Amino acid sequence: MSRPAPGIGACRVCAGPVTEFLDLGRQPSANAFPQAADVGREEYLRLAVGLCECCTMVQLTENSSREHRYPDTYRYQASGSASHRDHFGRQAQHLLETELHRGDPFIVEIGCNDGVMLEAIAKSGVRHLGVEPARQVAAVAAAKGVSVLTEFFDAATATAILRRHGPADVIFGANTICHIDDLGSLLRGVRDLLTDRGIFVFEEPYLGTVVTGMAFDQIYDEHIFYFTVRSVREAATRFGLELINVERLPLHGGEIRYTIARPGARPVTPALAQALAAENAAGLADPGNLLRFADAVRRVRDELVGLLTDLAADGRLVLGYGAPAKATTVTNFCGIGPELVPFVCDSPL
Ligand code: SAH
Ligand code: ZN
Repeated sequence: MSRPAPGIGACRVCAGPVTEFLDLGRQPSANAFPQAADVGREEYLRLAVGLCECCTMVQLTENSSREHRYPDTYRYQASGSASHRDHFGRQAQHLLETELHRGDPFIVEIGCNDGVMLEAIAKSGVRHLGVEPARQVAAVAAAKGVSVLTEFFDAATATAILRRHGPADVIFGANTICHIDDLGSLLRGVRDLLTDRGIFVFEEPYLGTVVTGMAFDQIYDEHIFYFTVRSVREAATRFGLELINVERLPLHGGEIRYTIARPGARPVTPALAQALAAENAAGLADPGNLLRFADAVRRVRDELVGLLTDLAADGRLVLGYGAPAKATTVTNFCGIGPELVPFVCDSPL
């Protein structure tokens, strides 16, 4: 178990050895939605995940550049989903009531996308800044009255924000923090930018859901990290912060909302110890268990392709319903093309 991962060689968080446990083959960018003329000209990446033997962070063993993943033309818009609009509207209200109600508070969102969360904050008049590198979706947020900085968030961006706006009472991120390969630079930036009692709240896909729910379609080029409570706690500690709370969320099949603060600034909730014990029991940092998961993923692939092949041989037509990024993983890993599923329907972008 000490072979360095091909591609990265070492853990992105602690530089320890990463051992690959699942290879999903060559895959294109999951959210690119290429036009017919671009098919065949896309860049491919070997999509594989490994476990860091030191800090237990599960991560891709290779990644493309952040500019490649988040070009100005990046098209995913969170507001396209009614359940996302409801969820983030409620989250904004909750932050306004619990953290942003005294003095002249300031909230920063990392990866504000089309403003799905910050729209309500902007309407309330609270000082805010969305950091969103993808120009097209950033413009959609700006058109809703959201203040946006069109940059990648990292330690340098955090310093610039601090100089210009002062410290942040809340830093928020959703489905973005696991997308950022330099997690160390991000956490240093968070530590520099937070007020003394400030909190960093982020909601991300959960390795527990992926493994116990066989949700291997969560694995795609944008998801660099597959967090657990244990690996997030270790990363926070390494960069001078403390994980103080975790909550389970129903989004994307089961996510976790993490709350991080300066060490000792806020009480640590009992939910943390409970979640750590449950993870231990589920074997989320156990290499043997992760290899068994990989075997099960390959069995699912074989069964699915077998079923589709039989149906096609019987002259039955199978169509796809919904074209999320996750479908890219399934179709490319399983080798499902138009001969098995002639087309997929979704609402226009
Ligand atoms: N928060 C929304 C959007 C998630 S999509 C939701 O939960 O649905 C992820 C977003 O993060 C994209 O809009 C992408 O452009 C942005 N992003 C990626 N890397 C980033 C970085 N380093 N700093 C800030 N935003 C980033
Ligand atoms: Zn590590």
